[in-house]
Amino acid sequence: MSLDLSSWPRPERGVLFVVTGASGTGKTTLVRQAREVIPDLGFSVSATTRPARAGEVDGRDYHFVDRERFAEMAAAGELLEWAEVYGNHYGTPRAPVVEALERGESIVLDIDTQGAEQVRAAGLAHVSVFVLPPDVATLEARLRTRSTDSEAVIARRMSEVRLQLQACGSFDHLVVNDELSAAHDQFQAVLVAALTQRSRHNALVQRFEKG
Ligand code: ADP
Ligand code: 5GP
Repeated sequence: MSLDLSSWPRPERGVLFVVTGASGTGKTTLVRQAREVIPDLGFSVSATTRPARAGEVDGRDYHFVDRERFAEMAAAGELLEWAEVYGNHYGTPRAPVVEALERGESIVLDIDTQGAEQVRAAGLAHVSVFVLPPDVATLEARLRTRSTDSEAVIARRMSEVRLQLQACGSFDHLVVNDELSAAHDQFQAVLVAALTQRSRHNALVQRFEKG
């Protein structure tokens, strides 16, 4: 699918997207391409205590912080949500998300299921997407091919995968990432559907209602 959004009406209100799913399902890959295709789609850079992987850039992929700094941020209420995932802490800085939405921009959170539950509990309007692998064996193979994690880290992640996958019933949309280009299409279709909702285009409606 080649997505041509050149003539699309910019939404007046941004959408908060929550993208979740087990490690290695392809969330980072899907979000990265969607941001190249869909205008005005911001990404929330999380804080984490996990060490940076080769190629990751501080401030772009994550804010890499130590446990003390993370605890300070959490205690000061600077995090919209946070959780311990696969043995490290991860959290969403609140201010950039709130500011983006106030400016009418959309923003994607790539967070685990516990964090997604906190966003829901906070009563924040959002659209959630759960990314599924075709099967667990394929997921494990992808974690290995990514070659960013040690065997111990992969084993730790795999031990928690089933638990993460079991949560898939609580999300608005499911994307099965089997063939990658099909998954990109389906993921972007979900985002576009949310962004074209009538409630985000009042001026457009009024223009035509007035005739
Ligand atoms: P996540 O962000 O969910 O942990 P990634 O986006 O890092 O997952 O993807 C994990 C690995 O699988 C990466 O090496 C990525 O290039 C690869 N990958 C993602 N989707 C597919 C796919 N459909 N087919 C084959 N490899 C894929
Ligand atoms: P990774 O270490 O592979 O980048 O991420 C591991 C897991 O942490 C993924 O499921 C990812 O979605 C999740 N994660 C990343 N940032 C956050 C965050 O800010 N909050 C929460 N709750 N989970 C996060």
